[in-house]
Amino acid sequence: MKVIIVGGSAGGASCAARLRRLDEKAEIIMVERGPYVSYANCGLPYHVGNVIPKEASLFVADANTFRTQFAVDVRTGCEATKISPNKKTVELRNAATGEVTTESYDKLVLSPGAPSIRPPLPGIDLPGIFEVRTVPDTRAIREWIERGSQFLSGMHKYSGFQTVRPKTRAVVIGGGFIGLETAENLVHRGFDVTLVEMGDQILAPIDPEMARIVEGYLERHGIRLALNDGVAGFNEAANATIDVLTKSGKAHPADIVILALGVRPDTTLAKMGGLKIGERGGIRVDEHMRTSSPDIFAVGDAVEVKDFVTGEWSLIALAGPANRQGRIAADVIAGRDSRFRGSQGTSIIGLFGAAAAWTGASEKTLKRLGDKDYEKIYLYPNSHAGYYPGAKPIAMKIIFRKSDGKLLGAQALGQDNVDKRISALAMALQMGATVYDLEESELCYAPQFGSAKDPVNFAGMVAADVLRGDMPISHWDGAEKAFLLDVREPVELAVESAPGAINIQLGQLRARLGELPRDREILVICRSGQRAYCATRILVQHGFRARNLSGGMLSRFHSLLLVD
Ligand SMILES: Cc1cc2nc3c(=O)[nH]c(=O)nc-3n(C[C@H](O)[C@H](O)[C@H](O)COP(=O)(O)OP(=O)(O)OC[C@H]3O[C@@H](n4cnc5c(N)ncnc54)[C@H](O)[C@@H]3O)c2cc1C
Repeated sequence: MKVIIVGGSAGGASCAARLRRLDEKAEIIMVERGPYVSYANCGLPYHVGNVIPKEASLFVADANTFRTQFAVDVRTGCEATKISPNKKTVELRNAATGEVTTESYDKLVLSPGAPSIRPPLPGIDLPGIFEVRTVPDTRAIREWIERGSQFLSGMHKYSGFQTVRPKTRAVVIGGGFIGLETAENLVHRGFDVTLVEMGDQILAPIDPEMARIVEGYLERHGIRLALNDGVAGFNEAANATIDVLTKSGKAHPADIVILALGVRPDTTLAKMGGLKIGERGGIRVDEHMRTSSPDIFAVGDAVEVKDFVTGEWSLIALAGPANRQGRIAADVIAGRDSRFRGSQGTSIIGLFGAAAAWTGASEKTLKRLGDKDYEKIYLYPNSHAGYYPGAKPIAMKIIFRKSDGKLLGAQALGQDNVDKRISALAMALQMGATVYDLEESELCYAPQFGSAKDPVNFAGMVAADVLRGDMPISHWDGAEKAFLLDVREPVELAVESAPGAINIQLGQLRARLGELPRDREILVICRSGQRAYCATRILVQHGFRARNLSGGMLSRFHSLLLVD
């Protein structure tokens, strides 16, 4: 069997290695347009920031490893320019010589990825404007930074003396994870960074109120955010700098510009071969990663996948799914019945010592789909036992089915161990767990790692209390019209207060029930929802209509939650 794999990075390389492990006899050709195979795209922003100082560290396995260990015929600098599904051939062009050859295949795997979006804006090709997608991109960025900016000092008029000043101003366009990671790394390189984002929030997959926390944190680390403003073009300015012009009419001066406007599936070959393209613009595949042509498979960023929660077709550009899909395609080619389960978009981004992570559906996605059978809770548990040094709060939002308690999505932000909570929740979600399962999950605990009630258990307990009717909840939207009862201590009110709320401390509540209305619903507030839960229980058992305001004051002001 002769298998040709187009694309030598995440999806393609994992497909090639797996296929060889399953089939010693297959002839495997892996063609890669660029100079490298199996390189760590995900490490590129950190190479820009010098966190990964050596370029060589980015190469997970080189072409030679694939040749010697896996007996794969690796052809770098070789572009697949045409596929002919009827003839089962691929046309290949050698970049160095221009020579075009045709190879036949029994099975073909496409893993061409998703190139960065590069709109035809005026000035977009000016020197100093970069993308962060390939190793050569980061090499060029590092060289550009290290070269400094030529400018003429005051002396030049008389002496012709020239000097170099360091490049100091960066504009990053796009608030997705590549833009944010690169922005952070440019701050580490001493840049004054402005991030321009067309949307009204950064990190589009998460909900706006959670994104606000990250936005506040970035601003406190010196990144200037320009939201709700699209880029309109680029002007060459004095001293070889660039003005980034936005639709609102602003001009942001820059010594370097990073374009991180998102990616678009590379469907060039697929379209040429007449393969079916889906509604989201990616290559349409079945659960075996097979395209509309039975002997052609496609994997990675170029394909559409089923969203695991909503069942919608979606585009998920992540390394984990690409690697798993490459492996599944290899399995199927080798005669096994492997299937891709769909993607839930589990992601994490680290920024200035904190992390934002998420899995499954966001609330805004459910709203867009008109789904009303969900509830959400906010909670702020400590990352580990509060009495053990170093515990940090984690801001969590959990979304679950009202009707059966099924976990639908989770978002978490914090400075300690956010990843393990979202990883646990992602696993639970994929296994179809309910919030009742989260209550009962048995997770690692010693004080430096977690709590006897881990944040994951805690999330399950809070959500299950809501569903069992033990803790009716409400949210801040619309809360101003309700009767607000704040059960915190007076000293806390001096720091932040909810306008219009009456204050009865939790410890005095039983004695002062007569001060509360029986003809109105009471929304109970504390700092994070825990004392309000106890208060709500007291009130409900005394015949009041009471609801806990989920997340308390923190869910109202949680943009200030992450502090160093
Ligand atoms: C800067 C950056 C940071 C990232 N960070 C993360 C992260 O932290 N976590 C995460 O999950 N994901 C991350 N990703 C995304 C992740 O890298 C991708 O989802 C993953 O690499 C997709 O794998 P792929 O095989 O589909 O495509 P790619 O890895 O893009 O590989 C496609 C390859 O195909 C080659 N190719 C395309 N067309 C042809 C052709 N016609 N002929 C020959 N070769 C061709 C390309 O040159 C390319 O090397 C990051 C991506 C970038 C760019």
